[in-house]
Amino acid sequence: MRNRSFYISGFVLMMLMVTGCQTEEAAVDDLPDIKAFTNITLYDGTNSEPYEGMLIIEGDEILMAGDPDVLEPPPRAEIIDMEGAFIMPGIINAHGHAGVARGLNHGEEYYNRENITEVLHTYAGYGVTTVVNLGEPGFDGVEIRDEQDTDALDRARLFVSGPVIDADTPEEAAAQVDEAAENNVDWIKIRIDDQLGQTEKMQPEVYEAVIEAASEHGLEVAAHIVEREDANKVIEAGASVIAHSVRDRAADYTLVRNMQQNDICYIPTLTRELSTFVYRNRPEFFDDPFFQKGVDSELIEELESEEVQQRYRDSEAGAYYEEQLPLAKENLEAIHNSAVDIALGTDSGMPARFPGFFEHKEMKMMNEAGLEPVDILYYATGGAADCMGLNNIGSFERGYYADFIVLEEDPTENIENTRTLREVWVAGNRIEID
Ligand SMILES: [Zn+2]
Repeated sequence: MRNRSFYISGFVLMMLMVTGCQTEEAAVDDLPDIKAFTNITLYDGTNSEPYEGMLIIEGDEILMAGDPDVLEPPPRAEIIDMEGAFIMPGIINAHGHAGVARGLNHGEEYYNRENITEVLHTYAGYGVTTVVNLGEPGFDGVEIRDEQDTDALDRARLFVSGPVIDADTPEEAAAQVDEAAENNVDWIKIRIDDQLGQTEKMQPEVYEAVIEAASEHGLEVAAHIVEREDANKVIEAGASVIAHSVRDRAADYTLVRNMQQNDICYIPTLTRELSTFVYRNRPEFFDDPFFQKGVDSELIEELESEEVQQRYRDSEAGAYYEEQLPLAKENLEAIHNSAVDIALGTDSGMPARFPGFFEHKEMKMMNEAGLEPVDILYYATGGAADCMGLNNIGSFERGYYADFIVLEEDPTENIENTRTLREVWVAGNRIEID
């Protein structure tokens, strides 16, 4: 894929040698389309501010992004006047669970090709063009991931961890990691959480064994944690990603230092907390057309039922996470201010954590936590790609996939402008979003 231009030039040359000049035009027709998007404000997925720019794509790849006074689109480019729209790389959700649920139920029986693909379409309809599944009941996603290097892609890209490692002993842990590696996963996920004292927490010797086995396979480990002490311990053991907020205590000097020194990436998942308590009563966003467009109305009815609302009111976890949410936000701001790497993540795809809608909500909540919109955009694009080791998405470097979104309004002025979504492009294709 990366060497295609070279390959095609070689092909043209060969055709000329074999059959003479007559075929030159035919060969040029076989070249991928070039499109130049002009009259845009462009945010390129790096740590820089948006600017009046131009984006040029060739087939499913980025060709160039830059200053229109300097860039010259190739002669055969189709010039598309975007009338002042805002263009940025597609949103990356670094912590999702695409395809694991149906309505309020989740589990193995839902995790199949049909459901995973449907959910990936829903994400894409919201401009979320990549999802990293951190925990899923099986390896069905691997095949779907392996099919996405195509210029006909019309859904979000998927990366997978397979099932969360659930082991009681180091030996069991290593065997599960070996199985995941044999299935060619992208990440290993562990959970260090006693569910507010109700279950046994994974022991250090077990997660140390997970991390060691993962590293033998060249895989990195993302850890679900709640408590600061567990975050510190699992970082010291060699994990790479803290996949939720630290929610029990303040992000102090020791934690931040530990994250900095170990090159940790932090995924706050603030909407995960929200989802544990927001359905006690009918949330306002149920009336939001942007929410409704991607949601199954039966599920809404279920969430509006007295029985389900009561279940949320009775939930001890809901009470705890609601109480800790302000601290989770303060911790995000402190960690952001300490220049620790951060990635957007939501835990969406699990029941009542709405794929696509939640990513926009998460950005809003990150903003409420004190982060500037331009930083949030970075964490949702190039920053997330860096955190998750996704090498050819997230910014507008030459040869990266042409996955991008077109907004009516500039989200650096107001983060909620990510919702003014006009177009979604995946692999150089404009896809259906309504
Ligand atoms: Zn999760």
